[in-house]
Amino acid sequence: MSESSCVFCQIVRKQSPASVVYEDNEVIAFLSNRPVNVGHTLVVTKKHYQNIYELSEEEAAHLFKIAKRMAHAVKNATGVEAIRIVQNSGKDAGQVVFHLHVHVIPMKPHNYLQFDNALRPREQLDADAENIKQQLKQHTQPDSDRNGDSVQN
Ligand SMILES: [Zn+2]
Repeated sequence: MSESSCVFCQIVRKQSPASVVYEDNEVIAFLSNRPVNVGHTLVVTKKHYQNIYELSEEEAAHLFKIAKRMAHAVKNATGVEAIRIVQNSGKDAGQVVFHLHVHVIPMKPHNYLQFDNALRPREQLDADAENIKQQLKQHTQPDSDRNGDSVQN
């Protein structure tokens, strides 16, 4: 898939709508429009990498740092106890959009294997995004507040 026809590149370039919850120079995070559960968020590199093999370790570290930040925000916004973080690289792994992304999926009790991906209306996705953004504001800690000994929440 070329970058011009890639749906995630179109979102990065603001040529397609998305319910964005986070953005910086390297990554953008937005709601999946076919969520496994409400709050299912995708953390996406702004560069068009097809899969995990193509990006540098430094870029991978930043991508996962933001995925962790999203995990806290999605957990708090949705009230779930469990979060599943998934990165599919390759068709056999279940990759559907061939632009590197990490899924941050809130999981309800007993739906470990349920993948009921119904299309969710934009206005509902926007409302979901607002809830997550509120949590990001309230719970984002600067790096200097953390060290290896005191892992919080
Ligand atoms: Zn792309």
